[in-house]
Amino acid sequence: MKNKEYLLSPGPTPIPAEVLAEASLPIRHHRTPEFSKIFTRTVSGLQYVFQTQNDVYILAASGTGAMEAAVVNVLCPGDRVISISTGKFGARWGDICRSYGIDVHEVELAWGHDYPPEKLASSLKSFPGARAVFTTLSETSTGTVYDIRRYAEIVSKTEALLVVDGISGIGAMPCPMDEWQIDVLISGAQKAFMTPPGLSYIAFSSRAWKAVEKASLPRHYLDIRKYKQSLLKKTSPFTPAISLLGQQCKALERIRTAGLRRMFDHHRILGEATRAGVQALGLELLSQNPGNILTAVRIPSGLDGKEFVDIMHNRYGVYIAGAQVPHQGEFFRTAHLGFMSGFDIITALAAMEMALRDLGYPVKGGEAVKAAQFILKECYCEKNIGL
Ligand SMILES: *Cc1c(COP(=O)(O)O)cnc(C)c1O
Repeated sequence: MKNKEYLLSPGPTPIPAEVLAEASLPIRHHRTPEFSKIFTRTVSGLQYVFQTQNDVYILAASGTGAMEAAVVNVLCPGDRVISISTGKFGARWGDICRSYGIDVHEVELAWGHDYPPEKLASSLKSFPGARAVFTTLSETSTGTVYDIRRYAEIVSKTEALLVVDGISGIGAMPCPMDEWQIDVLISGAQKAFMTPPGLSYIAFSSRAWKAVEKASLPRHYLDIRKYKQSLLKKTSPFTPAISLLGQQCKALERIRTAGLRRMFDHHRILGEATRAGVQALGLELLSQNPGNILTAVRIPSGLDGKEFVDIMHNRYGVYIAGAQVPHQGEFFRTAHLGFMSGFDIITALAAMEMALRDLGYPVKGGEAVKAAQFILKECYCEKNIGL
């Protein structure tokens, strides 16, 4: 028999029971008034979370599909762009752009490193004529968050568009699309949105829409103009992922009831508790600017990082994530994202203590749990930040 599993990965994330149950309902046809109601309710819930008056379009694709949609809908062959490679996911922007013949100026950061806004300002000067800046709100391969508000202040004064991968960050940390003047913002169902993988979301500012009209890269399934036309008729251009949409609609009810303020506080406190826990064990964080979404922790020297993650999973049933290529084995990533609670964090930290001891790292037991408990008291006693 296998142990009960605890999902602490930064996507997919755990799903509330009422959202799981939604998938068991009979399939409704998507060209009906009933489905249109669910569809429009979902769109307006997404606008609430994106903090935007712009339409938010729903794609039947994982997050990368929305990334590709961002590229093909605003650029022309040979355009120059700046892409900030913050880690595994940030690097994907450059990869997608190059697949379409875009001239990419890639800013390559060491994993976990910050990118101060002043550097973006100088990149824009040294690479004139850039049509867009591609960046990431929360880099999920390193647990690092980036100062999108300041990036937007800089980019909005130029001809370039600011395109933000908010796949893991949106819903877990502030990133108001309209207030900050973000041009293209994307996210995905399987992170803070408490929904199974398979849907991604994308919104364009009015400035970005001008680029959409002029863009000339090949696009068909991801041609966002089709989605705009269909949305006027309260539907999607192609068969939508009907069950997933019902699930996202249900999850958005929970998110709206909690409210964005509480979503952010909740994620912040769980992040603080996690960091306090691992630091109480003498472990080091990877990130210079760790965020609310996940914590990346360096593996102490002499320990095998892959073995640690395997023990967590196979022996204790706690599914944390390892480090991705090319840093495999160097650190691990434990999430505090989506439908989790303080006791998911306690579980993860308790299992980490046990797995570290199994590998011969000096842990008495209880140090990390104790440090996290102090912080989680804020969550359970002083403030109600449950979801
Ligand atoms: C999860 C994630 C992606 C990739 O999304 P897929 O759903 O795997 O296509 C991209 N960027 C970030 C920041 C992510 O967290």
